[in-house]
Amino acid sequence: MIKSFRGGIHPNGSKNYTASKPIEIATLPSKVVIPVSQHIGAPCVPIVAKGDYVKKGQVIATSPAFVSSPVHSSISGIVKDIALYPHPVFGKCLSIVIENDGKDEWIEGIPIVRDWEKLNADEIKSIIKDAGIVGMGGATFPTFVKLSPPKDKKIDTFILNAAECEPFLTADHRMMLEHSDKIAIGVKLVMKVLGVEKAFVGIEDNKPDAVIAMQKAFEGTTVNVMSIPTKYPQGAEKMLIKAIADREVPSGSLPMDVGVVVQNVGTVIAICDAVVSGIPLIERVTTISGSAIKEPKNLLLRIGTTFEEAISNCGGFKEPPAKIIMGGPMMGFAQSNLNISIIKGVSGILALNKKDINNGTQSPCIRCGKCVNVCPCGLNPSMLSILGERDMYEEAKLEQNLFDCAECGSCVYVCPAKRNIVQYIKYSKMRNNADAAKKKEALAK
Ligand code: SF4
Ligand code: SF4
Repeated sequence: MIKSFRGGIHPNGSKNYTASKPIEIATLPSKVVIPVSQHIGAPCVPIVAKGDYVKKGQVIATSPAFVSSPVHSSISGIVKDIALYPHPVFGKCLSIVIENDGKDEWIEGIPIVRDWEKLNADEIKSIIKDAGIVGMGGATFPTFVKLSPPKDKKIDTFILNAAECEPFLTADHRMMLEHSDKIAIGVKLVMKVLGVEKAFVGIEDNKPDAVIAMQKAFEGTTVNVMSIPTKYPQGAEKMLIKAIADREVPSGSLPMDVGVVVQNVGTVIAICDAVVSGIPLIERVTTISGSAIKEPKNLLLRIGTTFEEAISNCGGFKEPPAKIIMGGPMMGFAQSNLNISIIKGVSGILALNKKDINNGTQSPCIRCGKCVNVCPCGLNPSMLSILGERDMYEEAKLEQNLFDCAECGSCVYVCPAKRNIVQYIKYSKMRNNADAAKKKEALAK
């Protein structure tokens, strides 16, 4: 029996804009702006210079750090600039600007046809690392690191996170319908790397056609495709593990502490492309949607395409948008301009009109308790917001389990006082992380 998690919400899915739209290949961008940091971990360092000619699939930035991920050119053309450019998450980031020569030429040796079934776990992991694959659901944690748990963590279960619980987003849904063969290979490869026999695919029951497609793809295998209740944030790792494997990830712990590794749909497709055909991560499927977009679509976009060019593939705006969001409306990042680029973790771009945004003004907490009732992590969001507002970030960590917050936004969704709870939580986490880094630095001296 499927165990649900406590709390959660049922926002309007708004998936009808794009759920039935097949993935379209976007027109080649005139230029790409590729940030050297598109992942959690050490930023890469450019290994090309202004004026260089680069080809599609060529490595243009790397890092020797263990937790990092190389960056490849997504087009062929001339490197026009290497400087700070707007970044959808960090504000600004060192980026490599490449002007498209329109030839779309691969670097020598790509694509290839590999006898992938003969590869061993280490060979597969090394290909995943070199291909620059990161968690494409938005987390952007380097995939090969996630597939290399410490020896004392015994992994026995792999879960493919196909919940796609964020409203508006339909990229994973479409990939399950259109690329089930690649998903099946990607899951097989991950299972080989982890050495597990047991695997699950978790899909919310609002996507019955995807459940059927996946059941067909995994017929006759040990992979169990499960239809799970539609409830936000079902796709958060801890909630998914509870629903699928009935295991609780304790406070302060990670999925690997309960023997589980979770990957997203786009990530296993990227693994299949890299291992089977030698293709690095240079493009991704992104949902472009919302009330202000003329023709919402699921687009296959080159990494580094600007939001402006991506949106022009959808006919531009129907009306001037009141808000642009990178990602979904619950966990995404608001953007102030369109000169930012598609990075590896951009699952969606939303352009919303006034009636679709929560533009109320924040007022003091009225202690209604609604946020506490919906928090899937068992936290007290009201208290966390007050501590953040008062700069009491240490207390938030020590007394209110700050770091257990999944930043799902359920508390904000129900708050009648329109409090910016997640913003306060992110602020407190950032301050604690900065303090920890300072302490580490001082110890190292
Ligand atoms: S406190 Fe964190 S985990 Fe809880 S509802 Fe708010 S954002 Fe989600
Ligand atoms: S929902 Fe908003 S007003 Fe109600 S207790 Fe939580 S923070 Fe306070």
